[in-house]
Amino acid sequence: MALKKLVAGNWKMNGSHAALAELDAIAPAARANPAVEVAICPPYTLIAAAARRGDVAVGAQDCHAAPSGAHTGCISAPMLVDAGAALAIVGHSERRQDNHETDADVNAKARAAMAAGLTAIVCVGETEAQRDAGEAVAVVSAQLAGSVPGDASASALVVAYEPVWAIGTGRTPAVSDVAEMHAAIRGRLVALLGGEGAAVRILYGGSVKASNALELLSVADVDGALVGGASLKAADFVPIIEAAAQASA
Ligand code: PEP
Repeated sequence: MALKKLVAGNWKMNGSHAALAELDAIAPAARANPAVEVAICPPYTLIAAAARRGDVAVGAQDCHAAPSGAHTGCISAPMLVDAGAALAIVGHSERRQDNHETDADVNAKARAAMAAGLTAIVCVGETEAQRDAGEAVAVVSAQLAGSVPGDASASALVVAYEPVWAIGTGRTPAVSDVAEMHAAIRGRLVALLGGEGAAVRILYGGSVKASNALELLSVADVDGALVGGASLKAADFVPIIEAAAQASA
């Protein structure tokens, strides 16, 4: 099934209000390529201002599992909606590592995001040691089983396959390995969600850039990209949007 490709940028802990100029420079490419959905996930401090710009969907990089309460320093999914967000990344490997988030935590956050009306981008991916041990598909399958809410609808869920060893390193898996993993994820999603699983978009993430985007986005079951470093500058991000449009044609 050909699904509308999503190209989402994850700015991580980068950017002040001056960075919104990059968003303004991305907007014309988003408008010019309606076959591609474009989103930027800036830090919390920029969500409301980014959403007011209007042309590019805005997402958060995390959310709390509870809608409100005594959780100092945390942001809930309804607060993100209130600020203008449409999506939330949950279970990014940096949060799984730095904040010791488990699959159960990620599942609860995904549920909270969906309950608030956000699209949850659930991240999964193996470490280099796990890939070297031949465990990549098994690890990712277990992460999906634990992290994806069983009643998720395809319109509210996106899965991002991000090999941990490819994030920010400039290294990417062989195209055949991406194809194998995305086919396995599709199979697991159908097993978990039935017919909905066929319509969930599966993004590839990890060192996507202008020079490799078309090749990666042309692989079967690669329904878009989650982009870190190359999303910070419009000059780097726009060619990825254009590659997604070309791969969709
Ligand atoms: C990410 O952290 O989600 C990511 C894909 O980063 P990069 O593109 O910089 O590898």
